[in-house]
Amino acid sequence: MSKRRFGVSISRGLAESLDVVAEALGLDRSSVVELALRGLLEDYTHHVVPHSCVALIAHICDRELVEVTAMIGGYEELKITQLHSHTGEKCIQILLVAGPSRVIADFFSKLAKLKGCKARYMPLHDLSSIPGREQPPGGV
Ligand SMILES: [Zn+2]
Ligand SMILES: [Zn+2]
Repeated sequence: MSKRRFGVSISRGLAESLDVVAEALGLDRSSVVELALRGLLEDYTHHVVPHSCVALIAHICDRELVEVTAMIGGYEELKITQLHSHTGEKCIQILLVAGPSRVIADFFSKLAKLKGCKARYMPLHDLSSIPGREQPPGGV
């Protein structure tokens, strides 16, 4: 497989974490970055290619998050099942979301922008199973 080189700048802390993970896995930095990027692009391609999507969203916040329930009410096109729990000071919400991918993308981007929160998006189906989907650039 041909490789392309390009320079990127990342925070010092992230670079240190990259070194730790690379050493633990016995891989070089480029391989770890390629693995991470491949996974991220596969997940986020669900936001680019219009389809009927089913995904899990894990949402973890430093504070009690009261906005999410009101936010969910504004997305009638989505079927959302919510699990809400706490660990220490963290408010954790696991959301099973089904509906049009463009609506899920909008919902997810609002969750991801909430201050003091982290959001992870995990599609529960393979994009290659979607009939007639367009191949995104790069063939992810
Ligand atoms: Zn999807
Ligand atoms: Zn909570």
